[in-house]
Amino acid sequence: MQLVIHNLGYPRIGAKRELKRALEHYWRSETSTEALAGAACALRLRHWQEQGSRGVQMLPCNDFSYYDQMLDTACLFGNVPARFGSLPDRIDLDTYFRIARGQARSNEAAAVPAAEMTKWFDTNYHYLVPEVGPDTRFRLASDKIFVEFEEARAAQPEATPTPVLIGPLTYLKLAKTHEGIAFAPLSQIDRLTEVYLEVLERLEGQGAQWVRLDEPAFSLDLNAEERAGVRRAYERLAGGLKSLRLIVANYFGPLGDNLPTFFALPVQGHHVDAVRGREEVDAVLEALPTGRILSLGLIDGRNVWRADLVDRLALAQKALDRVGAERLWLAPSCSLQHVPVSLEPETELPDGIRSWLAFAHEKLEELQTLRAALLGDVAALEAVEASRRLQEQRRQSPCLRNPGVHERLQGLQADDFQRQSPFRERIATQQAHLTLPPFPTTTIGSFPQTDEVRAQRGRFRKGEIDEAAYHEFLREETVRCLRTQEEIGLDVLVHGEFERNDMVEYFGEQLDGFAFTRFGWVQSYGSRCVKPPLIYGDVSRRQPMTVEWSRFAQSQSTRPVKGMLTGPITILQWSFVRDDQPRRDTAFQIALAVRDEVVDLEEAGIRVIQVDEPAIREGLPLRRSDWKAYLQWAGEAFRLSTSGVEDGTQIHTHMCYSEFNDILPSIAALDADVITIEASRSNMDLLQAFVDFRYPNDIGPGVWDIHSPRVPSAEEMVRLLRRAAEVVPPERLWVNPDCGLKTRRWQEVKPALSHLVAAAHRIRG
Ligand code: GLN
Ligand code: ZN
Repeated sequence: MQLVIHNLGYPRIGAKRELKRALEHYWRSETSTEALAGAACALRLRHWQEQGSRGVQMLPCNDFSYYDQMLDTACLFGNVPARFGSLPDRIDLDTYFRIARGQARSNEAAAVPAAEMTKWFDTNYHYLVPEVGPDTRFRLASDKIFVEFEEARAAQPEATPTPVLIGPLTYLKLAKTHEGIAFAPLSQIDRLTEVYLEVLERLEGQGAQWVRLDEPAFSLDLNAEERAGVRRAYERLAGGLKSLRLIVANYFGPLGDNLPTFFALPVQGHHVDAVRGREEVDAVLEALPTGRILSLGLIDGRNVWRADLVDRLALAQKALDRVGAERLWLAPSCSLQHVPVSLEPETELPDGIRSWLAFAHEKLEELQTLRAALLGDVAALEAVEASRRLQEQRRQSPCLRNPGVHERLQGLQADDFQRQSPFRERIATQQAHLTLPPFPTTTIGSFPQTDEVRAQRGRFRKGEIDEAAYHEFLREETVRCLRTQEEIGLDVLVHGEFERNDMVEYFGEQLDGFAFTRFGWVQSYGSRCVKPPLIYGDVSRRQPMTVEWSRFAQSQSTRPVKGMLTGPITILQWSFVRDDQPRRDTAFQIALAVRDEVVDLEEAGIRVIQVDEPAIREGLPLRRSDWKAYLQWAGEAFRLSTSGVEDGTQIHTHMCYSEFNDILPSIAALDADVITIEASRSNMDLLQAFVDFRYPNDIGPGVWDIHSPRVPSAEEMVRLLRRAAEVVPPERLWVNPDCGLKTRRWQEVKPALSHLVAAAHRIRG
């Protein structure tokens, strides 16, 4: 077949989040394993059908996951940490969930700490970090990939089901070793490759024609050992296989200096990201060995704007001229798991904006159009022309431009990016009126979003209750939350964020330049999905966004209640951002809006204001050489948003999954008075960085992993705090959970926070 359409992966959670529901029922012990497996299988079948009907020939299978594809890979190789006990021959679903969540079902007694979770490259998707040490031994321990291959083959006999697997380099590069051991997981690559070979041989025996190995690690900096290791691994695989063909895929960035290694791998096909790697397509065409397949990632799998098909067609044509129609595959740049399923149900988006968008279905249709156009189809060529006109129309649209915002940005001075006095002076002023005990306790912001909270919001949105009734409900909920925190004995309170659906959406809805989908869900981790806003135009604040709620909350307590805002980088990072101006410019526009809000909160008497930046780390470019520029503007955006206040107003920030070690100076340069960070799941590993770099301001390393339903004991938290106190001056330490509590339940939150306060008391003593 000529010009095959190759899809790298499909959103697996379901257009209506069917998988989320099925998983959560299962975890609450409301359904059987069979019911969960049935729901999952029905989704896979539907998803293959939806891809097949959009011309996908190379049909991904094993891209489905009950939780995460890295965890699937770990289970395939039996790479399960010893704390999960001795394992059966094939790892069962409950063990799988225990690794992911610490607990398979809510009624389960013996819970264990879950595996660490972190962000997948620079996406907002989280994977479970494999643990690989010197003693790790691999074995084939799951049949998932074989089963799903059979399923796909039966479901779409016309297509070529292509099992996909994370490749050995990427798997080991993203793995971690237990603290305190000098050991590179990569040194296990030869052992691991033997089990890869076993898997591939079995797929070969099943009649698979192609297997794709995903190696996005090629978008990262690789050292000589890694390059040599990956070559050895693929040589071993090539030597062991007979008829099965391998395609190796890089995505999320250009290959850069890894390009020669990538094309030296003895495989039959290569996938490259021609969106982020657009500039190197010529070099790719030059380097591609004769006879190999080139899968060209033409359509952006990371953003939702319609492609400029004129540009894409020219690129594809160039590749076609070079490699020929038999050997060119057309593909999205990466898996479509990072975009929503379909634009079809989005009937409430303004028409203009809707016409600018493409979700997974529309992206596959763009590939079909490109394919037809390359084959000379007249209607397709017209559609390509029309896409260019649409780009023009979007760029010229008046709803993109707000001259006032541009003027303000032009007028910014150095002072606008700096607090009035240095931290030492500020903290003294703050302490004088906050009068907090040593090791002050606080939480990150949200409290459980119960079924009741969600139901009331739903009723309000549907117009079943009016705003007065809804707000009355929210006030009661807020007051109850404040009382609970006072009873538990926390020092700095929060209002609980019950009025917020999502920490980015809540602000986006109140800002100009944003649009929202109704069903545009994207998986974040496990069953958790987010609905990223679309930033299509210049951003500005219409009016105060949180002041009324904060004022109300503070009026209900004599203890300080934190004002709670989302920072500019996080709003940027968790949205689909316009691609017609640099991200930095959009970040600064958001920063101005946040700045105005911070100043208004201070004026309303709020003395502690938290500007959350959980996403600052994940926004780091994949290549170290690009870090400096990013950290510079990201830091400026944060400081622009927080520097409008007096010394006595305490600015907090919060960050999730922060592997800070390399960027601590930039984090310090944000100059927040207090930072709270994730630390418990990695057993305070990250504090190692504090040995090398003296973080100057206050810090609260999380002592309770809120991503798992497990309730830690006070002793456990004291232990973590003691570890923290070894590297951070005790007078700089705060006591808090890892992250917000919205996904937890009150029955976990109350005991865990009581243990946390008890731990603080004990360490004060
Ligand atoms: N304030 C937010 C909350 O508590 C922070 C969430 C986050 O870091 N992701 O929910
Ligand atoms: Zn967090």
